[in-house]
Amino acid sequence: MFNYKAKPKYANAKTAVWWDMNCCPVPEGYDAGRVRPSIEGALKELGYYGPVTITAMGDLTEAHPHFLQRLSSTGIVVQHAVNARLATLVFNDLMEFKRNNLPPATIMLISGKLDGQLNFPLGRNQQIQSGYNLVLASSSGGSLQRLHHTADWRWKTLLEAAADSVSQDTTTSYVLRKCSSSTLSSFVCRACKFTGLSVASFTSHLSTEEHKKTDKEEKKNFSVPDFSPFITMNDQAAPEYVNSKTAVWWDMDTCPLPDGYDARRVRPSIEGALKDLGYYGPVTISAMGNLENAHPHVLQGLSSTGILLQHTTRVRSYIYHDLRMFKVDNPPPATIMLISDQVEPVLSIFLSLDQQKSYYNLVLARTFTPPSMSCLCHTAEWLWQTLLARSPETTSCVLRNSASSFLCGSCNFTALSVTDFSRHLSSEEHKKEVSSSLISLLLACISLHFSLSKLFESFSTGVFFYQV
Ligand SMILES: [Zn+2]
Ligand SMILES: [Zn+2]
Repeated sequence: MFNYKAKPKYANAKTAVWWDMNCCPVPEGYDAGRVRPSIEGALKELGYYGPVTITAMGDLTEAHPHFLQRLSSTGIVVQHAVNARLATLVFNDLMEFKRNNLPPATIMLISGKLDGQLNFPLGRNQQIQSGYNLVLASSSGGSLQRLHHTADWRWKTLLEAAADSVSQDTTTSYVLRKCSSSTLSSFVCRACKFTGLSVASFTSHLSTEEHKKTDKEEKKNFSVPDFSPFITMNDQAAPEYVNSKTAVWWDMDTCPLPDGYDARRVRPSIEGALKDLGYYGPVTISAMGNLENAHPHVLQGLSSTGILLQHTTRVRSYIYHDLRMFKVDNPPPATIMLISDQVEPVLSIFLSLDQQKSYYNLVLARTFTPPSMSCLCHTAEWLWQTLLARSPETTSCVLRNSASSFLCGSCNFTALSVTDFSRHLSSEEHKKEVSSSLISLLLACISLHFSLSKLFESFSTGVFFYQV
C-alpha cells in the first residue's frame, strides 16, 4: 500500500484518531507522551496540518497511572472499554463525529482488528457519506482492506520513525499547549459512563467493586452490533438524481426475459420503475450476456427501444469495466442500475471499494431477495420479475434508437442490424475467436487460482486482497 499525500481539501481539515491500545500497544520503555507527536508527525509528513483529536481505547484495568498521565498530558482522551465492544463503540463514535463534523475531514484508525470488524458497516457508510478521508495504522501494516483508504502505516514504524525526528522541545510544547486548553482532556470509563478529570479519580474508579461488576456484565452481554438501520428501502430519488442520468447494466444470463415476453416492453418497464421513485433523467441501457442462442426477434425488439446489446461470456468483468469507464466520463450526480444475480459476493466488493472513492447513487434488480445485507450501499431494489410485470406502457423510445447497436465483446465486432449481428455470432470467425479466448481464459484461470483461493480465504478473516 502506497501512502498518498493529503488532497488539498484535507490539508487543513480536522483529523480524528481512534486508537485501539489492545491491538497496538505502546512498546515497553517508550514514553507515552511521545505518542501524540509521533501520530501528528506521520500525518504532517503526508501533508495533514489540521487539528488532531485522539481517542485511546482499551482495557485499562492493569494500566500504570504514570502511563495514563503521560498520554493524557498531551491531550489524548483515554477511555476504558471492554475489548469485545470496541468495534461497536468506535463505530458509534464515528457516526457521531460525522454528525458533528461536516466533510472534509480525515478519520484515522489505529488497530490491527478494528478496520476488519468495521469494514462492513463503515464501508457501507463511506459510500453514502463521502468527503471523509480514511487512513489506517495497524500492528502488521500493509494490509489491503475492503475499506478504501489513502494511507497505511505500521504502528511500530510510525512510533519509531517519528520519534527520531521529534525533539524534546516538541514534546514539551504539546504538554504546555495541553495545560492551557485542558477542558477536553479527560478519562472515561465507557462501561459505566464514568468521566474523571484526574488519573487518581480514574484509577480509583477502575478499582471499585461497582465498576468490576459492570465490566463483567459488559463482557457477558456482548452481542453482534446491530446495523439494521442500513437495510435498503425503495427510497424516493434524492433531488440531485431527479433529472440526472441513469445508466443501466443488464445481465441477461442471470436475469433473462420470461418466455413470450415482448422485448419491446423492457425499456418502458425499467423506466417506469425508475419514474415511480422520481428518476426522470435520461436512461441508457446496456444488455449483455451470451447472445449466441438469443432469438433475433428478441434482439430486434430490445434494440428497437434503444438498448445496446453486447455478446460476452464474461458479464461480471464487463459490467465492472464499463462502470469504471462510465464514471470517468460522467461525473456525479448520476444513478447506476445493475440488473444481475451475480452482484454478490465478488463484484460487490470491488464496486464497494469503487463507490467509497466516488459515490454514485446505486439501484439494483435481481430475481431473488438476498439472504444477507450487501457490502454495497444501494437506495432501491426490485425483483426482476415484478419489475417486468408492470402493466404495458406505450413507449416513445422507438424513435431515439440512433445510437443503438450490437456488439460482440469476444471479437470487438460492431453491427447495426440484427441480421448482421446474428450472422456474425454464427460465423466460423466468431467461433474461432471464442475458442481461442477460452484457451487464454483457461490459462489465466490457472495462474489466478492461487490468488483466488487466497481471496476467498480472506472473506472469512475480513482481509481482502485487491486483485482483478
Ligand atoms: Zn467503570
Ligand atoms: Zn464475435
